[in-house]
Amino acid sequence: MPRCQSPHPEFAKYTEASGFRCDGTDQCWVSDVGNFGTAAQPEYYCIFHAPADTAPTDRDDWPKEAQGELRTAALAAHLDDWRKVVAAGEEGAAPPAFVLPELRCGPVDFKRAAFPADLMLPGAHFTGPVHLRGAVFGGRVNLSWVVFREGVDLHSAVFANATRFQSAEFRGLAGFESVRFGAPADFAGARFAEGAGFESAEFGGDADFEGAEFGDRADFRGARFHQVAAFDAADFAGTADFRGARFSRDASFHGVRFGGHAVFRT
Ligand SMILES: [Zn+2]
Repeated sequence: MPRCQSPHPEFAKYTEASGFRCDGTDQCWVSDVGNFGTAAQPEYYCIFHAPADTAPTDRDDWPKEAQGELRTAALAAHLDDWRKVVAAGEEGAAPPAFVLPELRCGPVDFKRAAFPADLMLPGAHFTGPVHLRGAVFGGRVNLSWVVFREGVDLHSAVFANATRFQSAEFRGLAGFESVRFGAPADFAGARFAEGAGFESAEFGGDADFEGAEFGDRADFRGARFHQVAAFDAADFAGTADFRGARFSRDASFHGVRFGGHAVFRT
C-alpha cells in the first residue's frame, strides 16, 4: 500500500531542532492516497497534500473542486482511525504519532476531543475557525508555523506534554483561557494579530514567548507560571495585562517593547 509522500525531504524547516524527524519517522500518517504522477513515475499524496489545482490520475472521487470539503470530513475520519490504532496498541510500545505536516483544512470542530498520542501538524493552515475547547492532548504537540486564519478556541484545553507553537500565526482571536500546560510550552516567535487570551492559563513547564508579537490586547490575568517564563524581545502593541499573574520561578522580560499599557499589579 503506498503512503503519502509528504513531507518532501527537502523541506528545510523540518529538522531535529524543530522536533520533527525527517528520516521517514514523521511521515504523513495518511495511507489513503491518489497518484498525482504517472503510472511509470507515481507520486502519491493524500487529500491534504494533493498538489493544488490537480486531480489524481487514478481515482475519480477527488475532483479538485470538492477537495476542500473532502479534507474537512477526512481529518475527523483519520483522527478516529488513529485513536483506534492507539487504543489497540501493545502495552509498552510507543503509540504512533498522528502526523500531517502542512495540511490545508477549513473549519474544524474538535471540542472536548481527545488526542491520545503525539500530534504533529507543523505548518498546517486552517482557513476557518478552529474549535478545540476542552480538548485533551496526551502526547507531544507540534503546531509550529501553523496559520490560524480565523479564531482558535482552546479554552480549558489540557496539554499534558511538551507543546510547540513556534512561529505560529494567529490571525483571529487566540483563546487560551484556563488552558493547562503540563510541560514546556513554546510560543517563541508566535504572532498574535488580534487578542491573545491567556487568562487563568497554567504553565506547568517553561513558558517561552521569546520574540512573540502581540498585535492587540494580551491578557495574562491570573496566569500561573510554575517554571521559567521568558518574554524576551516580545512585542506588545496593545495592552499587556498581567494582573494577578504569578511567577514561581524566573521571569525575564529583556528587550520587551510595550506599545500600549502594561499592567502587572493586582
Ligand atoms: Zn499526506
